[in-house]
Amino acid sequence: MSSKSNEQKAGQLVVPGERLGVIEEFIPDVGTYVKDGVIYSKVVGRTLVDLVHKRVSVSQLVRGARVPNVGSTVLGQVSSAQPETAGVRIFEIDDEEVSGVFTGILHVSDVQMRYVDSMFDICKPGDVIRAKVISEKNRTYHLSTKDKNLGVVYAFCSNCGNLLELKRQGMHCSKCGRVERRKTAADYGKGLIE
Ligand SMILES: [Zn+2]
Repeated sequence: MSSKSNEQKAGQLVVPGERLGVIEEFIPDVGTYVKDGVIYSKVVGRTLVDLVHKRVSVSQLVRGARVPNVGSTVLGQVSSAQPETAGVRIFEIDDEEVSGVFTGILHVSDVQMRYVDSMFDICKPGDVIRAKVISEKNRTYHLSTKDKNLGVVYAFCSNCGNLLELKRQGMHCSKCGRVERRKTAADYGKGLIE
């Protein structure tokens, strides 16, 4: 394995789209897909690495078939961010795994009660956020984080990728010392991914 690789260790919690390894190293098994020679997780679950047979698979944590509704609380990963909007890949609805791919859009006016200047102070690609579905059109779900329980639940350093710690002065990276800003949920960093 390469020294600074993103490859997952067995038993780690992964979300859809998370990199598991490359096809030169592993044979992709259930719960995975391959794109450009890289193996990704298709589901929310824990990784299983079979070193003897060189297989990697993901055992799904929740088996359900949910579709978001207006009023649903969803969990998703920020896939893109512009000054006024963020795209979110929804992977959990009301604590159950989704069936299919759902895209959420968070607009800067739906982030919090106070005025927000830029989405870049709210969330960044790769972050995991909890949000409420406020409307739906053509399978695009408009999201809101206007509640203390809503917002970013996991944020990663945009410099080194390390999980950020919520400190008084902001979101702090213990690895490289960078300080960033987010709109965090009240339970930031607790319990979801151990
Ligand atoms: Zn960092």
